[in-house]
Amino acid sequence: MTTSGRKTFRWWPVDHGRHAIPGELRPGDTGETLCLHPVTYLGGEPSKREWLWPTCQVCYERARGYTHISLAGYHYGPVLPAQRQTEQHQADSQVIR
Ligand SMILES: [Zn+2]
Repeated sequence: MTTSGRKTFRWWPVDHGRHAIPGELRPGDTGETLCLHPVTYLGGEPSKREWLWPTCQVCYERARGYTHISLAGYHYGPVLPAQRQTEQHQADSQVIR
């Protein structure tokens, strides 16, 4: 138990939205998002597609007073969904005489 008084949260996709769930939830636990939506935390990594779901504004506002913890464990990190774009252009230059 920490006595810092600072609550923790992590982002978790629920019902086509990105919500904040309490950081103390363990994989398999049921609980509530910060906007009081029932949620089962499955653990692991959500899919890339799920990370693109819109952020819940209620959770976003409430999470301001919370400390973010990553999905991987109990270390702190910024909330930055990895966004990668792989573009491959192949320019074939052909000289035909
Ligand atoms: Zn929410």
